[in-house]
Amino acid sequence: MKTQNNLLYIDKEALATLAMARDGLLKPVTSLMNRQETIEVNKTGLFKGEIFPFPFILAPSGKRNKQVLETAIKGDILKLICNNEEVGMITVDEIFTINKDDRVKQIYGTNSESHLEANDTAKRLGNLAICGEYTIEFNDIKEHIQQIDQMATNVEAKSISALILSGKPFHRVHERLIRSAMDKCDMLIILLKKPYKDDELSYDVRFKTIEFFLERFVAKDRVLLLPLENTYIFGGVNELTLNAIVSKNYGADTLLLGQNHTGLGAYWDHNQLISRVDTLEKIHIRIKLFNEFVYCNKCTTLVSTNTCSHGSHHHVKYDKDTIMELFRLGIIPPSILIRKEISSMVLADLFPERKEKLERIHQNISTSAGVIDVFKSEDFYDGLMDLYHTSSLT
Ligand SMILES: [Zn+2]
Repeated sequence: MKTQNNLLYIDKEALATLAMARDGLLKPVTSLMNRQETIEVNKTGLFKGEIFPFPFILAPSGKRNKQVLETAIKGDILKLICNNEEVGMITVDEIFTINKDDRVKQIYGTNSESHLEANDTAKRLGNLAICGEYTIEFNDIKEHIQQIDQMATNVEAKSISALILSGKPFHRVHERLIRSAMDKCDMLIILLKKPYKDDELSYDVRFKTIEFFLERFVAKDRVLLLPLENTYIFGGVNELTLNAIVSKNYGADTLLLGQNHTGLGAYWDHNQLISRVDTLEKIHIRIKLFNEFVYCNKCTTLVSTNTCSHGSHHHVKYDKDTIMELFRLGIIPPSILIRKEISSMVLADLFPERKEKLERIHQNISTSAGVIDVFKSEDFYDGLMDLYHTSSLT
């Protein structure tokens, strides 16, 4: 078979990132940068006078890609292939050499081999970058933009906030953040980080838990839950900057952050926000930080550590790693931490193999066992939690 010299192989991450640029989520960047622009952005951190933390380039790794990029010339049309399917094409404008090490350092602040994500990105990178007009088939983002426009029109939204969540797992403080955010804006966009690697807690179950909360407990005509294609560009030290750029381009005027937002670390120094937030202000989006919330057993409710006068020995923290540790052990967390229906969904997802055993127990201890047609593991956990709350014999 003849070797095809017009095929460029890219992965899903690259495809989604190209779509983000094309559809305006990375404005001022809307297309791939050429060599001159790359040098400019490297030097200044600015593109067309606006903040952009690193060059937006396409430099896919692999032997076949290398051969194609070494021989292609201006005006050639290359087909873009992702997972063995043709997903678009690019017209070569320029092909130029990049410094892989510098590139990785720019995104992650390090190129150490022990940094997992940096290492992954390094593997995906080749030495040659290509720029030029491209077309791709990836319409999710366009659809999201339409959904946002539609909702904004429906509710006549004047102020739109964005909240970026991982929801690993989705707990009571997240609920509080959403409610309090909705108090202060006309419309809320929740961007749920959608990873490109398998996650302990799947994206689907995280989406489902938040959707459950939104459908039952808030004015759902004013809140939209959307995936945030969490590609490598969000991976490193520039996460927050990129989050701000994407939120603004989705139409938000305010970006809400919990104090333990992963990207925020670089911005804190001795509990003071340091100057890099100035960078964010240049993106023209308001950044609002939420205080830390805890459960206080004296106040018997969720409180901000700024307002509750009881000492920290009365406080239960919402530490996602601790809650995940409970889930890993198969233990249902107390409902002050996580709503029981949500815990049930998470446990059912983490331990699918338990289902038969749970069904037998459920039939023996649950009062509602008889009325369920098709048993789901969630029914067991929900029923058990109800029994824990029954205290008539104590
Ligand atoms: Zn208190």
